[in-house]
Amino acid sequence: MIDNTKISKFAISVISELQKNDFQAYLVGGCVRDSLAGIEPKDFDIATDATPEQIRKIFKASRIIGRRFKLVHVFNRAELLEVATFRSGNNKTEDESKLIKDESGKILRDNVWGTLDQDCYRRDFTINALYYCPISKKIEDKNNGLSHIHKKLIVSIGDPQLRFEEDPVRSLRAIRFSNKLGFKIDSQIKNAIYDKGHLLSSISNARLFDEFCKIFLGGMGEKNFNKLCSFNLNKHLVISNPEDSDFSHNIMIQALRNTDDRIKNNQSVTPGFLLAALLWPKLISRCIKNNEINIKKFFRSMDGVLREQQKLTAVPRKFNSYIKDIWVLQLKLHSRIKSQPYKIIRHPRFRAAYDFLLVREKASVDKNGLGKWWTDFQKNDDSLRGSLIARMNEKSDADSSKKFGFYNELR
Ligand code: ATP
Ligand code: MG
Repeated sequence: MIDNTKISKFAISVISELQKNDFQAYLVGGCVRDSLAGIEPKDFDIATDATPEQIRKIFKASRIIGRRFKLVHVFNRAELLEVATFRSGNNKTEDESKLIKDESGKILRDNVWGTLDQDCYRRDFTINALYYCPISKKIEDKNNGLSHIHKKLIVSIGDPQLRFEEDPVRSLRAIRFSNKLGFKIDSQIKNAIYDKGHLLSSISNARLFDEFCKIFLGGMGEKNFNKLCSFNLNKHLVISNPEDSDFSHNIMIQALRNTDDRIKNNQSVTPGFLLAALLWPKLISRCIKNNEINIKKFFRSMDGVLREQQKLTAVPRKFNSYIKDIWVLQLKLHSRIKSQPYKIIRHPRFRAAYDFLLVREKASVDKNGLGKWWTDFQKNDDSLRGSLIARMNEKSDADSSKKFGFYNELR
């Protein structure tokens, strides 16, 4: 049923090495699910009854990682595999330091080893609990995962109300998998998302940044955002805007559409671009007065807006300067006289800033032609460039700069 030629040779060799050492070892999770659903698997996770220390001994190129959830990275020059030890998911353990829950039932640490049977029940959804041995070509399926793949249905293992208390991130995962696979979310899970979604506020901002990237930068960003909004979970990943205007919603959609298209075309994507877009309405709402922008306030507000988003998702520092460059360039793009445009176009972030300008225009009702001007200017024809600049006189340039063309963003 699964075509081994689609499976990483390295993953098969690691499994066979574990088995030669008398351990059980299987492919599990996303790669088995995706292969069966007809999607190219993107990474290969392995589950085994060997402990992290035992795995570490077998593979020279390996490293034990994680505290909350200890596992081993086994790598070669081109690939990195996650090898996880079977968990019992059972909190009746003698050593209470290994599985810890907080008062709301959230699992803080899960490092109690178990058997294959037990491991099947601690996973989130039935379609994620399929174990495939590429050597015997057999699939272990204790939770009807195969039948749910055929029915195109996401079903929780155990009562989703409890499972989402243990780990609220599972609600985001259900949404992401349903769009990725085109599967329906079972109604019990839907209820659990409504009832337990609020618990996402207890998840660390580091983990939520990881989920932010998975949910918005995986090629299904727009669909995921719409579904998040329908469950009212978007507020856990994105700071809300003062009056949650249509513009804030539209700019997010346009930026996600741009990101999804880039992924389709195998172009690079960055969370920086999305963050610049989603925080933009908040930034300008802080520095607009009487339809004009207060430049001092604009510069002073940038860090504050970034800090607010930081409370939700731990955005790595390296993205801050990228985001601020894009914002500042939105102002500079209005200077279109003399040698200014030639300077601006050489800025290392010009292309991102121009793409963002187009996103802003798409999200707005009226346009003032700035995006089109820059589209033409990039055509790299000297006489065209000269005439574009000549058309801009000092006064129109100053007018444009004063309002910065914020169209209906101002309202
Ligand atoms: P993808 O890699 O496409 O996002 P995946 O299903 O492989 O999907 P991972 O986060 O790589 O997702 O996790 C691998 C497997 O580990 C999952 O398929 C699931 O069985 C289990 N798992 C991951 N996160 C959780 C969780 N929060 N709760 C329960 N099980 C989980
Ligand atoms: Mg995976």
